[in-house]
Amino acid sequence: MPADRLRTVLQRIQNAADATGRPVPALLAVSKTQPADAVAALAGAGQQAFGENYVQEAAAKRASLAADHPDLQWHLIGHLQSNKAALAAEVFDWVQSVDRDSVIAALARHRAPQRPRLNVLIQVNVEGEAGKGGCPPGAIAGLAERVAAEPRLALRGLMSIPVPHADPEARRPAFARMRALFDDLAARHPGVDTLSMGMSDDFPVAIAEGATMVRIGTALFGPRPN
Ligand SMILES: *Cc1c(COP(=O)(O)O)cnc(C)c1O
Repeated sequence: MPADRLRTVLQRIQNAADATGRPVPALLAVSKTQPADAVAALAGAGQQAFGENYVQEAAAKRASLAADHPDLQWHLIGHLQSNKAALAAEVFDWVQSVDRDSVIAALARHRAPQRPRLNVLIQVNVEGEAGKGGCPPGAIAGLAERVAAEPRLALRGLMSIPVPHADPEARRPAFARMRALFDDLAARHPGVDTLSMGMSDDFPVAIAEGATMVRIGTALFGPRPN
């Protein structure tokens, strides 16, 4: 069943990408609140990249899966509190929710020298939604310079979570704006190759507008346990 769901989602990603003529986006399987055995089942079907919202939850899953699945890649997609940055720098391969200077400094300080560089996406609050994570578009350039100046961090691109709308089409302008911001950043930073946007209910629209990575939970795992 997990393998069937994975195949269906990969096919839908492929179909959406075919219409754009761009490379097929990467799939990040969002495993927040899902038990480790659900991750193991999807890993057994070939999925390697997993997204988590909470640092400690990810640390526990990574540890329990390390022996059987040593090659999994873990991405933090939830808000990062400064006091969790040290652990996050240890647990994750990517942090997609970087949105302020203090977090950049803390991640850089705590990424061990013997590990590969920590991949970083800058999270953008593209619609200026009050009370939400992410920096305003005008802050991207400065944060990107800060990340790029850190030898333990690798600047890879941008992430966004547009305002929820019942109609996924209503998110299209936000996705298009993100693609323009991404192209602008990529023109100035050679390592930038990732635009993370699109979830279970809107990923075909995000891909049409230029996502290079989609983050999908429900369509892969079913409804989240409470
Ligand atoms: C939960 C979550 C997702 C996945 O949402 P689904 O609707 O289950 O696909 C993607 N991105 C972020 C940041 C999330 O918190």
